[in-house]
Amino acid sequence: MAVLRGYAHCEICAENYILRAGVGIEKSQSHTFDCKSCGIPISVIVRANPPTAHFEPEENVIIDDSEGENAVVLNLHPFFAFDSKEIYALMAFPSLLYCAKIAPYLRVIPEQKTLGIPTQDVALQFDVPNASNLWNTVKNIFLLQERVGQNKRVIKAIEHYEKQRQKYFTETKVSNSKDVAFNFFDSLFYPRFEKLLDPAIELIYAIKSDHQQGFAEFCEFYSNHLKAQHSRQYISIFSDYFKIYNQLRQMVVHSRIGDEDVDEKIVGSKSFEAVKLYYGQAYESLTSFFVIFACLNNILVGRSYDQFQSMTLNKYMKDVSKEKKANPFEQTQPFYAFTDGLDSTLRNGSHHASIWRNGEKVFYRSGGTGAQREITYSRYLHLCNKLTISLAVLFIIELKLGDD
Ligand SMILES: [Zn+2]
Repeated sequence: MAVLRGYAHCEICAENYILRAGVGIEKSQSHTFDCKSCGIPISVIVRANPPTAHFEPEENVIIDDSEGENAVVLNLHPFFAFDSKEIYALMAFPSLLYCAKIAPYLRVIPEQKTLGIPTQDVALQFDVPNASNLWNTVKNIFLLQERVGQNKRVIKAIEHYEKQRQKYFTETKVSNSKDVAFNFFDSLFYPRFEKLLDPAIELIYAIKSDHQQGFAEFCEFYSNHLKAQHSRQYISIFSDYFKIYNQLRQMVVHSRIGDEDVDEKIVGSKSFEAVKLYYGQAYESLTSFFVIFACLNNILVGRSYDQFQSMTLNKYMKDVSKEKKANPFEQTQPFYAFTDGLDSTLRNGSHHASIWRNGEKVFYRSGGTGAQREITYSRYLHLCNKLTISLAVLFIIELKLGDD
């Protein structure tokens, strides 16, 4: 991955910058950072038309032709964070560090000579180029297939998806919406994706084969009462995610490979306004989808899907608070693993917008007592990614529920 260098100064206080940005194969990348001197958010866009690329101003910034006096170095990268000593360093190459992290998990893909992408460019192979645009195609496939008489458009959108992915993975084959959803989220979130999916699916198959009648009753209830609403909710929360994907993907490698070493990381591009409510929304969605695991768990322990140890399904859905939705299946690890990253206090802060950022820290207050807490900004993004991976896997599980 090439590093683009450019010069700029803050429109407000005239602080000079040397900007260094990793350039991928996407045509445009927006970056927002706090001015080191006056603190005002500065936004620049990296426009790439390989092999050339340049910076364009977006907000509070003037792009210069040459280096200004006492210029501050600032590193930006679309899908990596930096160490604190690197973020303002002229010789920072985060891809080198991350390549070492990613390499053990990387899927080998064939030579891609025609694309001009060096095969050893690990960073590009681990990423899904233009993921936000690609999500629009995935979303359209699911929206169109809900409607009568849109079959041809669905097929066309599936073909479009396949072509887009084949540019980078020539062997991509998808023939229906489930294939598309799996291919998309798996490419985006492996290996964590499989680590959650495989044990859960294995357990669900075991429940199905040991309790055929109970499982069939649950599937009928699911189709009639949950499926349509959940489907809308998934589309909505993933659309929110891809609106802020340029922020969240700077940290996504960590949640994908299960690396908790995130607090020292600094992302070059920060737009807290864009991400501050997302954690709360993802938390709401994920915990409301836990009804699937709760019902399956009832069957697993030999009860009807709607009979809990000490309550009915109706009570579970109406009266149990969000932070307790996973309690009924806390002994069932393949399901309980999906709670990783849930923090009800942070949810309250994010959900009620009593959350703010100062430098590399995010502060939030829980409701009621109002005790102030803090986490690093990088961990906030990391937790958002964790919940999203759980959501993506649960989405695939729900798509499989109707399968034979
Ligand atoms: Zn400034």
